[in-house]
Amino acid sequence: MEHMIHKSHKLHNVCYDIRGPVLERAKQMEEEGHRIIKLNTGNPQVFGFDAPEEITQDIIRNMAVAAAYVDSKGIFPARKAIMHYTQEKKIADVTVEDIYIGNGASELIVMAMQALLNNGDEVLVPAPDYPLWTAAVNLSGGKARHYLCDEANGWLPALDDIRAKVTDKTKAIVVINPNNPTGALYPDDVLKEIIEIARQHNLIVCSDEIYDKVLYDGNTHTSMASLADDVLFLTFNGLSKNYRACGYRAGWMIVSGNKRSAQDYIEGLNILSSMRLCSNVPAQYGIQTALGGYQSIDDLVKPGGRLARQRDIAYEALIAMPGVTCVKPKGALYMFPRFDPKMYPIKDDQQFVLELLEEERVLLVQGTGFNWMNPDHVRVVFLPNSDDLSDVMHRIARFLERYRKR
Ligand code: PLP
Repeated sequence: MEHMIHKSHKLHNVCYDIRGPVLERAKQMEEEGHRIIKLNTGNPQVFGFDAPEEITQDIIRNMAVAAAYVDSKGIFPARKAIMHYTQEKKIADVTVEDIYIGNGASELIVMAMQALLNNGDEVLVPAPDYPLWTAAVNLSGGKARHYLCDEANGWLPALDDIRAKVTDKTKAIVVINPNNPTGALYPDDVLKEIIEIARQHNLIVCSDEIYDKVLYDGNTHTSMASLADDVLFLTFNGLSKNYRACGYRAGWMIVSGNKRSAQDYIEGLNILSSMRLCSNVPAQYGIQTALGGYQSIDDLVKPGGRLARQRDIAYEALIAMPGVTCVKPKGALYMFPRFDPKMYPIKDDQQFVLELLEEERVLLVQGTGFNWMNPDHVRVVFLPNSDDLSDVMHRIARFLERYRKR
């Protein structure tokens, strides 16, 4: 019999549906000549949101000196600029040594979990979540325990559910704010309550703040790590979203708060950081320019700005569809509408988005791909321009009308 090669057991509970089987079908359809409108990834540049010119130019200008390995944590001017950004966000006591630059925040999320978890350790992860978090915890031998974000309460974390899910194995809590996939932005009192839970149970707080400048309606963002110094915080951010530069792969992680108690863990982070030598160097030359430059995302998110307009178009169209409700996003690039199960008795939401793809050439990601427990949500990315977005909404409405009549 033929010898079969299997993936490792470590991957048994690891999945990432944003680039899963439905995308494979979409690619196949494109090869067959169909135009698919892809609302599956938060990848601004493919929708005409170019990275600021000055960032790209600085990377090009430094290309010749960027061929060498550099410090594992990243080049000094980039880390210094990130340090200044932490001061702007009022995170106390951060030195350049507390800053790690990675190939996107993604690499550092996996690294942070690998360095922390022993088999069976638990991490509190939001439901719905950005699924890399669940995948990174499970890959690292841990167990992601999902706490509820409450749709009826604007998708804010349900504090009682968090408290109920802490066990003696819980090592950390993940907070994604502004949130992917819901677009929620958390008020300070909620952040403080979560910190209090972390304080009581000695949990690390992993705060994913990669959308901290993508804010609508004049909202402002508070970095969780600015609210306490007696808890260990890992704060994640990067160029991908705020500066529309996903492909440069430039992200960072900041260690702050109770660093004293975490010396051994920090040593673990340093080992893993050294093992990959360093992250992509050319992109690191864009970081100082980005953080110190003109914050052009503001023009896009302010009232009347392109992103703000697109959010409104998608939101208004969705809530006008029978049986569809949606919390209006306050930040990020997404919304997470709900289909009333009485009108849309969806059994398998992957099948639901596959049918939408086949029938209307629109690609969405099903809610269960974000570790949402019921097959009654999808994530909508509102990056396409207004005309495309209106067209997509029309197609979704047409699909739903047929679905209701089945
Ligand atoms: N965190 C969240 C919440 C995200 O939505 C994403 C990308 O979509 C990432 C992290 C990954 O970002 P990066 O491009 O820096 O790896």
